[in-house]
Amino acid sequence: MHHGTEATGARTREEVLEHVTCAVCGGKDYDVVLEAQYENEKDVDLIHKFRASGDELLIDRLVKCRNCGLRYINPRLRGDLIFSSYAEGEDPVYVSQMDARERTFAASLAQIEKLVDRPGRLLDIGTAAGGFLAAATRRGWQAEGCEPNRWLAAWGSKHYGVRIQPGSVFEQNYEPASFDVVTLWDVIEHTTNPRETIAHCRSLLKPGGVLVVNYPDIGSWIARALGRRWLFLTSVHLHYFDRGTMKRFLESAGFEVLAMRPHFQRLELDYILSRGAVLSKQLVALARGIAKPLGLSRSQVPYWLGQTFVAARRKA
Ligand SMILES: [Zn+2]
Repeated sequence: MHHGTEATGARTREEVLEHVTCAVCGGKDYDVVLEAQYENEKDVDLIHKFRASGDELLIDRLVKCRNCGLRYINPRLRGDLIFSSYAEGEDPVYVSQMDARERTFAASLAQIEKLVDRPGRLLDIGTAAGGFLAAATRRGWQAEGCEPNRWLAAWGSKHYGVRIQPGSVFEQNYEPASFDVVTLWDVIEHTTNPRETIAHCRSLLKPGGVLVVNYPDIGSWIARALGRRWLFLTSVHLHYFDRGTMKRFLESAGFEVLAMRPHFQRLELDYILSRGAVLSKQLVALARGIAKPLGLSRSQVPYWLGQTFVAARRKA
């Protein structure tokens, strides 16, 4: 995501970072998986780094909980600074890919519809520009969402005519136990407190309602193969689940896991290649040089880098 770039002033690392415990089990003990790579001890502006990190590899320290195995960034940028960073800024690059995202969402809805009797009330948390809400509305769902980024929330409301409330889910007044489905697309890894977020999702779901989560799986073969170069390893992703930690996490939060499978997302080829520049600038320049004269730059392609789809039912 491309966030605002207004001056934040020089702050010391102690002022902007916080040490946290494991968000899944509360454990305090951890092993260091990757050491921090802050290249300049004194002058680094970590807030700016955080905002730009959608295009950069992880520079923060990654640790692994000794109790439950969750991997997470620790220390990390303070929660209030993370949230204000999401609220601000514009993201025209994200909305340039809405056609491809809507096709991904239509396929996801077909999966979700196998788990419910009929389309009902649906809440999409962190809906970004509302592409999922638009796809769901077309398929007969009563869909609404919320989005911390004010620019994206306004863009989606206007472009699709769907209901998107600005702000986090905690700032809304949704009626408890009123939704048949609650979705979190590419959201849980960004949250400062996943346990609190999932507990809130549970309170909004009707008994027997379905929670859908998509997350980048650090235990996937591709994440293990790419190591530090895995594209989802970035400062904005605070928590790194694998299938085991995700299953235990949801079960301990009062859910029964129904399905877990690789989740293919579609984007335009040129957009994927532009993001892939992190891996190899030369290789990507070569691929773009080939795709452009062939007219493939804007063709939509499914890609998979460990994204995992999970559906879970709220236990009574
Ligand atoms: Zn833990």
